Order: sequence, then C-alpha cells, then structure tokens
Amino acid sequence: MSDELLHMLPKCGCCGKLISPDERSVKFICPRCGEAVIWRSEKCRMFVRHYTCARCGFVGP
Ligand SMILES: [Zn+2]
Ligand SMILES: [Zn+2]
Repeated sequence: MSDELLHMLPKCGCCGKLISPDERSVKFICPRCGEAVIWRSEKCRMFVRHYTCARCGFVGP
C-alpha cells in the first residue's frame, strides 16, 4: 500500500483508526452540522461506540 493511498483512507470517528476499503464500515453525514462526513469502522459499529464529529464536536451513538 502506498503512502498516498494511506493518506486518503478515511479515519474512524470513534477510535481514529484508518479504515481499509475492504472493511464493512459505514459513513454518514453528521446530524448536527450536516457537513462533516463521519466514518465508523466495522468494529466500532459492532460495539456501537460513540463517535465524535471532527468539525463541530458532536458526540453521538
Ligand atoms: Zn473505530
Ligand atoms: Zn458535526
């Protein structure tokens, strides 16, 4: 995997881990600011971890 590709990978909004393309992750728009895209990794989705919006700081389930 090249450095460039690594840089483009989304980060999980819960644990901050990079999300690989083959992972069954989810992404959605922040319900508060409606602008930031929040990613959630497969593991965090399974454990229903709370996420934090990088833009407005919204914490949601
Ligand atoms: Zn995570
Ligand atoms: Zn937000």
